[in-house]
Amino acid sequence: MVKNTMKTMIKCANCGRMVPANPRVKNQKYCNRKACQRVRKNNWKQSKIASDPDYKNDQRDCHKQWIEKHPGYYRNYRKQNPDYCGRNRELQKKRDKKRRLKQSCKRDALNHFSDIKPGTYKLIPFNRKRDTLEGQIVVIPRC
Ligand SMILES: [Zn+2]
Repeated sequence: MVKNTMKTMIKCANCGRMVPANPRVKNQKYCNRKACQRVRKNNWKQSKIASDPDYKNDQRDCHKQWIEKHPGYYRNYRKQNPDYCGRNRELQKKRDKKRRLKQSCKRDALNHFSDIKPGTYKLIPFNRKRDTLEGQIVVIPRC
């Protein structure tokens, strides 16, 4: 007897509905609703862009060409969708804040090095299996 491994029903990863599985689709995760198919395609595209530099460049070139053929599209879109602009602005503020915080953390970490005085130091490895080394620390002034 051949074991039937095909699922008869699947739970859509987007809308959560239980729908009959399409036997022609391997590892089906989404139903056939337009919104769910759009989510599936966007997810596929995002992962493809992340993993395939050629595809990413092709998409960028294609988008550039489209922008050249449709001048003013984004300007009009922003005018007609002020909610989108407001949301975008808020998200950008959050990203800027996060980046600034990261940079200040890096700066703080670097400031610890400014406390080191130039001179000759013994370098002791953490594992202490090796002998100590002697090394000179020369502080290079910032330009
Ligand atoms: Zn769905």
